[in-house]
Amino acid sequence: MKEIILAYQGEMSLKGLNRATFESVLLKTMRRRLKSLGNFKIYKAQSTMYAEPAGDEDIDAAEERIGKIFGIAAISRAAVCPKDFAVIADTAKEYLCGALRAAKTFKVSAKRSDKTFPMDSMEIARELGGVLLSAYPHLKVDVHHPDVNVTVEIRDFAAYVHGGKKPGAGGLPVSTSGKAALMLSGGIDSPVAAYMMAKRGLSLACVHFASPPYTSERARMKVLTLAKKLTPYTGNLNVYVVPYTAAQEHIRDNAPEDLFTVLMRRSMMRITRVLCEKESADAIVTGESLAQVASQTLKAIACTDAAQSLPVLRPCIGMDKTEITDIARKIDTYETSILPYEDCCTIFTPPHPKTKPHLDEIEAAEAGMPGLAELEAQAAAQAEVVYVNL
Ligand code: ATP
Ligand code: MG
Repeated sequence: MKEIILAYQGEMSLKGLNRATFESVLLKTMRRRLKSLGNFKIYKAQSTMYAEPAGDEDIDAAEERIGKIFGIAAISRAAVCPKDFAVIADTAKEYLCGALRAAKTFKVSAKRSDKTFPMDSMEIARELGGVLLSAYPHLKVDVHHPDVNVTVEIRDFAAYVHGGKKPGAGGLPVSTSGKAALMLSGGIDSPVAAYMMAKRGLSLACVHFASPPYTSERARMKVLTLAKKLTPYTGNLNVYVVPYTAAQEHIRDNAPEDLFTVLMRRSMMRITRVLCEKESADAIVTGESLAQVASQTLKAIACTDAAQSLPVLRPCIGMDKTEITDIARKIDTYETSILPYEDCCTIFTPPHPKTKPHLDEIEAAEAGMPGLAELEAQAAAQAEVVYVNL
């Protein structure tokens, strides 16, 4: 019996003229993500994407990967059969045998997009319901909350039988909303921010600030591991590792201690902006959450935003740590994020950072560091690009 994965597209079907672009991005993404699993034929018809194994490819692995592709609202794994009722009934009995044996209740849903098929949806559902009740006499019909929703889709090429749809990753296909640079630390929040913005269709490049020898090689590797864990959702990622030591020491040595963190964050934003130009990225994404730390108060955020002109997207801004952590666990970044390596944001931090900095005092402090711009330019120019592939 031939099995296939049906991936139903989501929100993008609402987008009118963009639809063709969205669909072609989605097809390309599916091809890329399944490539290393062998020969899957990927095609679309009637708002549904099909992933069909040529031989004995690992369909479990394919299903898992497709489940992480944004733009897909729901997935089902189906048996393919000819459009003949007797064959469809046999296929349902056999293919869903395990689920039907374990179930107490079921219903049959039928969808007929091929109107030349001689039975309509109601007839298919009624007839197949009868067949299944006599094959599995312990079952009862429950149209509201069935244990198994036996589904038959009569489409152009064939009939498909499955046990109901599962939710997909949702969102929009990556890259259809443009591109942004993600400031990726080793913490819990920024990988979650990446996931959330990729879900809204952004493609991402990552920027990580490292300050050796204050930060270690292990901290750098941790960030690359995080990036790798994001790729099933984001696709391949360029990670810019910025050598930030000189600029950071310069701020430490030449600015009021209580403004250090905000000054550093502005400096990081300016460098990230330069890298955005390289990547043709139109926004910066961070994992900031309102009032989580001194540099994330409203006043501090206002100062950070004033450092450069690209929009700064902060998808975690209204979330508390438990909500962020739940997503981190779901996307499997949590265990890596909690490894206890130092980050450049946690070195040199003053004991009493100012929680309500004013832009005037920040700009005055920067005016007292005429050498900083050059150090920032060097840091951006010397950033190492690491290609992190799926
Ligand atoms: P995270 O927010 O990722 O859990 P964190 O809470 O320790 O780490 P903060 O000090 O709150 O990080 O920094 C806020 C945001 O600034 C991060 O979410 C991230 O987007 C960015 N950031 C912090 N440190 C770095 C770094 N070393 N390189 C790149 N971006 C960073
Ligand atoms: Mg944080």
